[in-house]
Amino acid sequence: CSAAEEKDLVIIGGGVAGYVAAIKAGQEGLKVACIEKRGALGGTCLNVGCIPSKSLLNNSHLYHQIMHDSKNRGIEVGDVKLNLQAMMKAKETSVTGLTKGIEYLFKKNGVEYIKGTGSFASEHEVRVKLTDGGETSVVGKNILIATGSEATPFPGLEIDEKRVITSTGALSLDKVPEKMIVIGGGIIGLEMGSVWSRLGSQVTVVEFLNQIGGPGMDTEIATQAQKLLKKQGVDFKLGTKVVSGDASGEKVKLEVDAAKGGKAETLEADVVLVAIGRRPYTAGLGLENIGLEVDERGRVVIDSEYRTKASHIRCIGDVTFGPMLAHKAEEEAVAAVEFIKKGYGHVNYGVIPSVMYTHPEVAWVGQNEQDLKKDNIPYKIGTFPFSANSRAKTNLDTDGMVKMLADPETDRLLGCHIIGPNAGEMIAEATLALEYGASTEDIARTCHAHPTLAEAFKEAAMATYSKAIHF
Ligand code: FAD
Ligand code: NAD
Repeated sequence: CSAAEEKDLVIIGGGVAGYVAAIKAGQEGLKVACIEKRGALGGTCLNVGCIPSKSLLNNSHLYHQIMHDSKNRGIEVGDVKLNLQAMMKAKETSVTGLTKGIEYLFKKNGVEYIKGTGSFASEHEVRVKLTDGGETSVVGKNILIATGSEATPFPGLEIDEKRVITSTGALSLDKVPEKMIVIGGGIIGLEMGSVWSRLGSQVTVVEFLNQIGGPGMDTEIATQAQKLLKKQGVDFKLGTKVVSGDASGEKVKLEVDAAKGGKAETLEADVVLVAIGRRPYTAGLGLENIGLEVDERGRVVIDSEYRTKASHIRCIGDVTFGPMLAHKAEEEAVAAVEFIKKGYGHVNYGVIPSVMYTHPEVAWVGQNEQDLKKDNIPYKIGTFPFSANSRAKTNLDTDGMVKMLADPETDRLLGCHIIGPNAGEMIAEATLALEYGASTEDIARTCHAHPTLAEAFKEAAMATYSKAIHF
């Protein structure tokens, strides 16, 4: 791209937020360029996040199931062996297939892909240090910041991605560690802890709070999830804070302290996974060159139309407010381009689903019981266990339940929390219901195919205002 060329939209960052905005802008007929520095499109999600983690979760589950849950299904297997290198290769095949797919979509929609690191030279000009050497610059009528997030480091424990790792290292260890400690029992800790536990590691999760699952998970569901993961072999130390670490010896040592009831002790492991949250990434972006603000947590400050202080510069995704989720970034990308092109756009932040892809999966949308209690909002509950669902029974996969929270006067759905097989797919139905303001009676009177897991969803709805038929 020549230095003088002006685009309608310049996007910094080719993650989910940036690449979706780029495709949408191309579709809307805008002249658009997307700058990405990692050498591949798709950002954290496709390269070192959602996609590789789900590949490993899926295949490690299969391995674990073949080892421990096949005989009772009438399947006699012989010599089952883990080929970790092949499992990692399968993961890489999924990742590269998808990242290359985005390059194709860029071409199809006329998006210019600039490989390099972007930084603000002025309010309309982004200077790019090209990956292949040299520099260029691109001028935008509009600019979109979509630079994402990075793992929050643990003070005093240097990340080497081999013995002290973030999720990135946890996605490509070259052997199964004998003992792994996970600092943080949020979604990353539990997903990646599950993978390595299934592959043979002795995993201990140390969590500061008295509940696993990170922010948003319903307490009753989190307690069930913890019990089920414990049954699979993951150990937990809740109410326990890791205060310091030392990786200088043969083993990595952690000092933990009673935070909320846990006890002080020294723990040792071969590998320590730091999973204490993620923080916005703006390093080298030159926000200071144009006086843009970040808040105390490093998030780029924006208004309700994603505008920064300079109204032609917008910001979306992990680098700004809201849950750090790929589908949230994707919604914002479409809305931000619509604001630019049409002057209006919308994301319903009350209806963003969350999924933890362990086995069983945990998924939720809307409000949870502890928040309703805290806010003094009246509610009624309907639950249905998968142990009473015919499809779960045929699948020999009956752990978990559907829990619905509804307004006691109107039956309007307030929140839905599922722990069980395929919860991540089933939550789409609750999300649609919540988006359209459905009542639980609307859901319960909607015919659901038999035998499906989704019948548990229907029966939990029924249980909020009447009785479930099968329980
Ligand atoms: P990112 O994906 O981080 O993309 C930002 C991009 O900008 C990066 O590629 C970066 O290289 C680039 N960049 C930064 N600065 C510059 C610059 N100056 N110039 C050029 N390029 C730059 N979310 C889900 O919804 N579901 C999941 O199952 C899920 N699993 C996850 C698993 C893991 C292990 C992790 C770590 C995260 C997971 N997430 C998941 C979260 C999800 O990955 C993020 O919410 C999502 O990637 C955010 O998209 P983004 O575009 O805002 O940021
Ligand atoms: P998180 O905020 O979900 O969990 C971090 C946990 O670490 C918290 O429960 C916190 O109490 C605990 N913690 C912090 N400091 C501690 C200490 N010193 N000792 C013990 N415990 C401590 O963060 P995460 O799991 O790192 O995930 C980061 C982001 O990535 C999340 O926003 C999540 O939404 C996203 N993500 C999503 C998915 C998914 O959607 N399936 C998967 C992976 C990641």
